[in-house]
Amino acid sequence: MKAPPLVRTIGHFLGGKIADDGTARFGDVYDPARGRVQARVAFADEAVVDSAVRAAEEAFPKWSRTTLGRRAEVLFAFRERVRTHAAEFARIVSSEHGKIVTDAQGEVARALEVIDFACGLPHLLKGELSESVSGNVDTYSMRQPVGICAGITPFNFPMMVPIWMLAPALACGNCFILKPSERDPSTSLLVAKLLQESGLPDGAFGVVQGDKVAVDALLTHPRVNAISFVGSTPIARYIYRTAAEHGKRVQALGGAKNHMVVMPDADLDAAADALVSSGYGSAGQRCMAISACISVGDAAEPLMRRVVDRIGKLRVGCGEDANNDMGPVVTPAARNRILGYIENGAKEGATLLCDGRTVRVAGFEDGFFIGPTLFDHVTPQMSIYRDEIFGPVLINMRSKTLEDAIATIDVNPWGNGAAIFTRSGAAARKFQTEVQVGMVGVNVPIPVPVGYYSFGGWKASLFGDLHLYGPAGFRFYTRGKVVTSRWHDSNAGMNLGFPTHR
Ligand code: NAD
Repeated sequence: MKAPPLVRTIGHFLGGKIADDGTARFGDVYDPARGRVQARVAFADEAVVDSAVRAAEEAFPKWSRTTLGRRAEVLFAFRERVRTHAAEFARIVSSEHGKIVTDAQGEVARALEVIDFACGLPHLLKGELSESVSGNVDTYSMRQPVGICAGITPFNFPMMVPIWMLAPALACGNCFILKPSERDPSTSLLVAKLLQESGLPDGAFGVVQGDKVAVDALLTHPRVNAISFVGSTPIARYIYRTAAEHGKRVQALGGAKNHMVVMPDADLDAAADALVSSGYGSAGQRCMAISACISVGDAAEPLMRRVVDRIGKLRVGCGEDANNDMGPVVTPAARNRILGYIENGAKEGATLLCDGRTVRVAGFEDGFFIGPTLFDHVTPQMSIYRDEIFGPVLINMRSKTLEDAIATIDVNPWGNGAAIFTRSGAAARKFQTEVQVGMVGVNVPIPVPVGYYSFGGWKASLFGDLHLYGPAGFRFYTRGKVVTSRWHDSNAGMNLGFPTHR
């Protein structure tokens, strides 16, 4: 007889039910603060993905034809349930990801903003009408659901990023299948339960847990119509190419190296606060984290002094304790990768002002902790600048002028976000106009747009054209249709010429 697993199993959500029967492969889900496995997650094969697609196919006619008012009701009900369960979501996120519970609460709040926007679906799905485009002829446009949409999401925002996709997708009348990160999969099942309780028909939302096998099955499934992806750049590139080859609409958001330019006229205390908050919040595991500072002119010395001073006051520890500032990184593999970069940076000649390798957290000795790390005098050739580290490692580069700083950002392959700290309106305006990124902050270090704008980068940070959530999300998850209609009482007669509008 097969021995029962020692840890709980996190399953899929198929046709309105949690399922893990017949699963042959599982992945480990860690408690990153304690450095131990806390659960195992089922890995879907092609058959599991196919059953999620079949359930969605069955639900699609019903959900897509549900009236706009009723669909809005379901989303309003979901919004209320997410609000009621906000603390539970934050606790789950913190326990599997490792981020501080208050940071996780922020993630839930930003997810709610996107649901708020999606609740406005009756207004957002209005078409346009032009009367009398020709004699007795009117033309109007409508936006209809795309069909079965799938989302593949990263570990770093296990609650917010799935909501960025599924809220607008469902609002537009689509069915949605989520393949969450295998590192922190549990929030997906709470989302599924709350959607079901809110009145979404079974099958309209499904969860397939897993790895590349599940992703590939979604990318190549003939009945999946659209793919949304958020994750690292190499995988985003692969997703974009493979999904497009299989005839799907696709948006694939990739990695980032976000710069913050600090001008000599900036409020350096505010800039230092912003650098520390955005560089080390969530242990640097945010796609919009500032990972590279560019100090212009003589800003560098006084700025670095302030940053070092603030780093000395940060409390690193378990995410459950809201008094801590920074938790562990997500897995032992992530920890080893980041430690490797710190070693390389020191070898490559950067000045290591704060070394996070020595951090020890009492009572959590096995946790995947790395303390806040700061390098100065970094050059563009060093690996700590060239690569996305995705950990609590902030680097400082120096630049003589704003023009040089903008040029540095522009040759960087990524283009997610960039910020400038200055008191000069002219410098800020030049920066926002010229910099080649999708999201710009002026005295704001992490300029993630509110839910009624849209989120997306440029260059290697986004493959595809439409951004996530907000108005762009509604465009991605709908197909345009234009109707030209003639209603009149008499027959206009035969005319073999090409129709004109006069
Ligand atoms: P990741 O690319 O490793 O994984 C993302 C998703 O892809 C997961 O669901 C994973 O299971 C799947 N995946 C992994 N390898 C795959 C493969 N070979 N084939 C098919 N699917 C595969 O990313 P991650 O480590 O979970 O998240 C961190 C990355 O995500 C960082 O690079 C970060 O910058 C990026 N990110 C970007 C944004 C953005 O908005 N641009 C937002 C959040 C995170």
